[in-house]
Amino acid sequence: MNKLFIAAAATILLSSGAAYASDAGKPQWGYTGKGGPEHWGSLSPEFATCSTGKEQSPIDVPDAEGGTVKTNYNDTKVNVVNNGHTIQLNYGAGSTLESAGAEYDLLQFHFHSPSEHTLNGKSFPLEVHFVHKAQDGTLAVVGVMFEEGAENAELAKIWQNMPAKANEVITSDVTVNAGNLLPADQTVIRYAGSLTTPPCSEGVKWHVMTSPIEASKEQVEKFLSTVPANNRPLQPLNDRSFKTHKHSH
Ligand SMILES: [Zn+2]
Repeated sequence: MNKLFIAAAATILLSSGAAYASDAGKPQWGYTGKGGPEHWGSLSPEFATCSTGKEQSPIDVPDAEGGTVKTNYNDTKVNVVNNGHTIQLNYGAGSTLESAGAEYDLLQFHFHSPSEHTLNGKSFPLEVHFVHKAQDGTLAVVGVMFEEGAENAELAKIWQNMPAKANEVITSDVTVNAGNLLPADQTVIRYAGSLTTPPCSEGVKWHVMTSPIEASKEQVEKFLSTVPANNRPLQPLNDRSFKTHKHSH
């Protein structure tokens, strides 16, 4: 192989790499290889918290004493985004979560497969994150697990409008309600955590529901055939503690 050929090949690699980075405007992160979760903290100074943070998510949620929340979710028209990392439904204004005396607006919900949180060591095939924001900017996320079972009718409406390619959006007059993706028993376990994607910002008020809902095997497979497996590995608890159940023996 002559030197000219090597130089030309290197130039092509460099220029295509540079074009990719400048297109996105941000370092490329993902779930495997050089952009994978173990490298997030060093991909960019903005992502440093991914490796230096002490209250990171997800975690294994212990069998602890639960609390309650109140949701006031309205119907919203389907607006589904494939952002290359997940499938996300952007929510219309006016839906709220009340938790521990604070009120938050529902902004969007999105999915992870397999689940990011585990419940007392148990992983689930799918997890939905309902992302809310208070007036002061504080984020509150509600996580709900799906176990394999019957087809989920609310999920079916979203999946029918799932964009096949990254950076595509599908809007429709079909309406969905986030409340239909909540279990009957809405007991939550609260903990202080972070975004589970870069920049892994902390100060996120997590509410993980202890009761799962159902989705079919085919529904989980459709998600995984459209976006990659997108679960960040479990993060250390560090100084975070939980009130344990008072067992009656
Ligand atoms: Zn999430």
